[in-house]
Amino acid sequence: MNTWQSTSPAIACRLCGSQAVRPVLSDQAFSRTYTSYWCDYCDVMQTLGDVESISPDYIYLAPEALDDAHIYLQTKHKRSAFDQWLNLFHRRSCRAEGSSFSVMDIGCGVGGFLTFARASGADTFGFDASKAQVERCRRDHPRTRMAYSLEEYALKLGGQPLVDAITMWDVFEHIRNPLEFLQQIQSACHPQTLVYVSVPSGAINPLKARLARLLGRGAGLIPWEHVFYYTKKSLPAIFERAGFEVVETGAVRAYRRAWSPHELLRRIAHSLLSPTRYSFQIYVLARIKSAPPPL
Ligand SMILES: [Zn+2]
Repeated sequence: MNTWQSTSPAIACRLCGSQAVRPVLSDQAFSRTYTSYWCDYCDVMQTLGDVESISPDYIYLAPEALDDAHIYLQTKHKRSAFDQWLNLFHRRSCRAEGSSFSVMDIGCGVGGFLTFARASGADTFGFDASKAQVERCRRDHPRTRMAYSLEEYALKLGGQPLVDAITMWDVFEHIRNPLEFLQQIQSACHPQTLVYVSVPSGAINPLKARLARLLGRGAGLIPWEHVFYYTKKSLPAIFERAGFEVVETGAVRAYRRAWSPHELLRRIAHSLLSPTRYSFQIYVLARIKSAPPPL
C-alpha cells in the first residue's frame, strides 16, 4: 500500500539503521527467496533485501477468489475483535454511546469492518490496494476507493476526509515504510481521532521458525507479504516515534474459527498467552500528540 522499494544491497534495520540484525527465517515464493531478520534495538522482525513495493498476493487477487470463505475472514472471523474495538472506542473517545461518528478503515477489503461500524452509527470511509475487494466494498460503502495511500484516496474521493476513528486490521504489517505512512495519515486526524491497529505479534516468530526448521516445514510467516512483525514493545514505540501519543496497547481478542480440537487448543493458548509478551495478535490505540499550550 505504498511505493517503497529496496534498491540497496545493505542489510540494515529499516527503523534504526543498525546492521546488527540476525536472520530469523528464509522462505520462497514467486521463485525467489525472502529473508526476515530480527533487530534487538527495535524489537521487530522485518524482511530485508528486495521486496515488492506492495503485497503481491493481495493486490492481484481475482474477483472470483472472493468466495464465502474469503469474506468470512473479514467478517465473522474477527467479530469478537471488532466488539473489543468498539468498547475501546467508546471508552476512550469521550463520545456518548450511540452518537454518530466517522471511521476510515485503511485496507478496508470487502468492507466487513465498515459494515460492523456502520451498524454502530458510523459514517464510513476507506481505501484498499485490491481492486477486486474495493469493488465489492463500494456496493455497500460508496465512499471507499482503490488507493495505495491516503493522498491518492483523497484525490479519488475529491477531498481529504477528517475522521473520528482510523482502523487498520491486519494491514500495518504489510506496510513497507511504516514511519512515513503513520506520519501521512495524521492529515486525516483531528486531536481526538483514535487510530487503531491490529497486527500479528512477532514475539514468538523466532521460536516458530526454529520449530519449523526442526520439523522440515515452512513457518507460515509469508515474509513477502508481512514485511514487519511488531511486538508489544515495538508497536507502541513506532507510533510514538511517528508523533502519536499511545492511549492503550494490549492483546486483541482471538479471531475465531469453527470449533475443532485444534481451534480449542488455539483459543486456550490465546487466552494463556494474551497477558504475556507472546500474545498472538496485538493492538495499539493512539491519537496525535496535542500541540503544547502557548507560553
Ligand atoms: Zn532497528
